[in-house]
Amino acid sequence: MTISAVRTHRVSAPLHTPFVTALRRTTTVDTLVVELVDSDGRSGFGEAPQVWQVTGASVAGAQACVRELLGPQLIGSDPDDLVTRCAEVQRAVVGNEAAKAAVDVALHDLAARRLGVPLVRLLGGTSLRVPTDVTLAAGDAVDLAAAARQRQGDGFGVLKLKVGTDAAGDLDRVRAVRAAVGPSIRIRLDANQGWTPREAVRVIRGIEDAGLDVELVEQPVVRWDLDGLAWVSDRVSVPILADEAVFGVRDLVEVIRRRAADLVNVKLAKCGGLHPARTLLELATAHGLGTVVGSMMESQVGIGAAASLVAAYGTTAVADLDAAWWLAWSPVQGGIRYDGASVVLPDAPGLGISGLTEAKVQHRG
Ligand SMILES: [Mg+2]
Repeated sequence: MTISAVRTHRVSAPLHTPFVTALRRTTTVDTLVVELVDSDGRSGFGEAPQVWQVTGASVAGAQACVRELLGPQLIGSDPDDLVTRCAEVQRAVVGNEAAKAAVDVALHDLAARRLGVPLVRLLGGTSLRVPTDVTLAAGDAVDLAAAARQRQGDGFGVLKLKVGTDAAGDLDRVRAVRAAVGPSIRIRLDANQGWTPREAVRVIRGIEDAGLDVELVEQPVVRWDLDGLAWVSDRVSVPILADEAVFGVRDLVEVIRRRAADLVNVKLAKCGGLHPARTLLELATAHGLGTVVGSMMESQVGIGAAASLVAAYGTTAVADLDAAWWLAWSPVQGGIRYDGASVVLPDAPGLGISGLTEAKVQHRG
């Protein structure tokens, strides 16, 4: 039994609501869906989301990486030898984590499909429901409060506020959202590298002094400033979550060594897939760091894989897997769906994806 074809599909799917952070504003998810086909005609899917401002990954770059390097290497190989295949993918190229993640996830999906079990079962879990937070796009205090009430009405119990665009107004934004939703909703913040270390301490202490009950603050300062991140972590009580500062295992080792953060946000498109993501979760747990599994703005393909990881391994804080909730339509048939504040995994082999939403997807090789 061998892998007989590697296909790539370029997807640009519109959002129902614009997504705004300290780094960017977007109205579409642009992503490369990778499809591995075995000699029985079964397909496994994975995706490489384009996020110039966070990972530097592009659809064109991921497509080149898969078509010219990772794909040809897989043709004729045994898909059941999953650990070897995944290790080969990681070794094949420097960087290109999103492309590696797409192929790694497609290998896992195909392996699970060949066994006839959901991906979560292949990973060692049984749960098919994964609670998630939902993001409130960056905006002014009035808009955020209105969006917060809407999401509370949609059934979400954990809100993630995008801040960091304007430190002077961020305390008022958090105050407005807390006033809008009351005490029972959990609020977490993501500054997406938007504050200086001093601004971060000032804003977070303001939040603490005002008793606004914030669960955690994600990536307060620029990603390369681990000393700054540690300086902030030392000076506030609210737990600090490292996101852009940690792509792979070596980054996490540095965060642990410098005690720079309290938790780490593990994302497939940053670390290169399910294989390295499991190492990150184990390493964080072994050193007493909290864990969150999150995602880029990506589709039901990547969210299905990340949710399967959470369902099998567990994390210390609620997952950050609302990305596909923002999509006006799904680029794939089957796969995950959202039910209130949960990602629901299909009780079907692999990721439960039966194919692409043909009319809306641009095919390439
Ligand atoms: Mg983040």
